[in-house]
Amino acid sequence: MKGNFIGGEWVGSASGRTRERRNPADEREVVAVFPDSDAKDAHDAVSAVAGGYREWADRGPEARAAVLHRAADILAARADDLARELVREEGKTLTEALTETRRTPSNLRFYAGEALRVAGRTYATGDGSLVYTSREPVGVVVAITPWNFPLNIPSRKLGPALAAGNGVVFKPSEVTPLIGQRLVEALLEAGVPAGALALVQGGGEAGAALVADPRVGAVTFTGSYDVGAAIHRAVGPSQRCQLEMGGKNPVIVLEDADLDRAADIVVRGAFGLSGQACTGTSRLVVHEAVHDALVERIVTLARARRVGNGLSGDVQMGPLATRAQLDKTRHYLDLAAAADAVLRAGDEPIEPGLEHGNFVRPAVFTDVDRSSPLAQEEIFGPVLAVLRVDSFDDAISVANDTAYGLSAGVVTRDLGRAFDFARRVDSGLVKVNQPTTGMAMNAPFGGLKNSSTQTFKEQAGETMMHFYTVDKTVYVAS
Ligand code: NAD
Repeated sequence: MKGNFIGGEWVGSASGRTRERRNPADEREVVAVFPDSDAKDAHDAVSAVAGGYREWADRGPEARAAVLHRAADILAARADDLARELVREEGKTLTEALTETRRTPSNLRFYAGEALRVAGRTYATGDGSLVYTSREPVGVVVAITPWNFPLNIPSRKLGPALAAGNGVVFKPSEVTPLIGQRLVEALLEAGVPAGALALVQGGGEAGAALVADPRVGAVTFTGSYDVGAAIHRAVGPSQRCQLEMGGKNPVIVLEDADLDRAADIVVRGAFGLSGQACTGTSRLVVHEAVHDALVERIVTLARARRVGNGLSGDVQMGPLATRAQLDKTRHYLDLAAAADAVLRAGDEPIEPGLEHGNFVRPAVFTDVDRSSPLAQEEIFGPVLAVLRVDSFDDAISVANDTAYGLSAGVVTRDLGRAFDFARRVDSGLVKVNQPTTGMAMNAPFGGLKNSSTQTFKEQAGETMMHFYTVDKTVYVAS
C-alpha cells in the first residue's frame, strides 16, 4: 500500500500508526497494511486541498470532463484486476465484484457530462442592469464512504465533486483501503492535480477530525445511521452535509403473485452481496394465503445457495466483510431464536475449508414478532425475517413500521395495487416486481426517514451537482 496521499506525496500517518486488513474469506492472509490516520493527518489533508484546489477549479469544465473520462478509461481497462482485488479485500463473489468494477467507469462518465451542464440563470431587472447567478465549486469536499461498494460509492461522490471543480479529501472505509487507493491512483493518473485530491486512510478518528474542520465546505457520507447522526451533529451551520444511511428494506408479496418469481426476487435481494447491501431485503411481508408456499420456495433456494470464497467459480455467496459483521449477524440469529422465531434455513454446517473466513449460511426466520429487533434493526447480513399479514393495508403498515425508508418492493400482478403501494410506502426507492437491490446509474438514489438526510439525492444529475456548487448572485450595471 502506498499510504495517504497529501500535498502530492504518498506518506504514512504522522503518528506512524498502521492498521492491517485481512482477507475475509481467509483471515490468515493480510491484504493491506495502511496508515491509521488521526487528526494531524486530517488537518494536513484539508490544508493541502484548501490551498491547492483552485488550479482545478479554474480549469474549464471541458478539461475537467476530459480528465474524468480518462479516469473512466483507466478503471475500465483494469476492471478485471480490480474485481479480483475487491474480492480479496471485501469478500464479494467475483461476479458481484465485476458488476461493481464495470459500473464505476460509467459513473465517472455520467458526471463528466454533468461538468458541462453546470449553468446559472439571468433575472429581469427593469433598469437595464444585469443580474445573474453563477455556480462555483463549494471548495473542499470531504467524502467518507463504507466498505460494501468500495469503488462504486466513492465514484458517485468524487465524480460529481471533481466535475464541479472542488478539491476532495477522500476517506475510504478502513475495511477497503486498497480499493480506495486504486480509485485515487486512477484519478491522479488521469490528470486530477495533486492539489485537488487527498486520500486519508483510517477509521472513525480520522473521519471525525475531517468533518469537524471548519475549512471543509461540504461533507458527503454514506454509512450507518449512528455514524451519520454523529457527523450531522459535528458539522457546522455553514457546512453542507449529505448523509445516505442504513435500511430495513421490505418486500411485500401479495396473494396474486407468481410465487416462483417472488421467491427469486426475495432471495436475490436478501442474500446477494451476502446481505450486505444498504438496499438488501431484510423483511418479507407476505399475505397469509401464500405464506407457506412462498416460504417453502425461499427456504429451498436458501439452503441450496453455495457459500464460499468469492474467487471460486461456482460460489453464490461470499463471506461477511469483517469479524464484527459476523458477530453482529450471529447476535441477531441468537436473539431471534430466543424470541421464538422459527429458523427455517441457516442451520446447515459451513463447508469444510472455510473455517478461517467470516462465513455464515443464509438464514430465514418465520413467525417473527413485528416489534422484535429482527424486524426493526439493520443487521447487514444474510438474514431474512418473514412477517405474515392478512391484508394489503396491513402489509403497508408493517412495511412502514421501521425507522428506515431506503428501498421497498412489492410483488403482484395487480398494477393498481403496485401504484398504490408506491404512493403509500415510506421509502426513497420503490421496486415493483424487482429485488430491492439494484439501481439505474442515472436515476436519483437515496432514502427517506433515518436512511438519509434527504438533501441531495445521489445520481440525480443536476440536483446532485447543486450539492457540490454554491450560487453567487451577481449584479452588473453598465
Ligand atoms: P460505518 O458508518 O461504520 O462507516 C462508514 C464510514 O464512516 C467509514 O469510512 C468509517 O471509517 C467512517 N466513520 C466512522 N466513524 C466516524 C466518525 N465518528 N466520523 C466520521 N466518519 C466516521 O458504515 P460501514 O460499516 O462502513 O457500512 C455499512 C453501513 O453503510 C450500513 O448501515 C449500510 O446500510 C450503509 N450504507 C448505506 C448506503 C446508502 O446509500 N444508503 C450504501 C451503502 C452502505
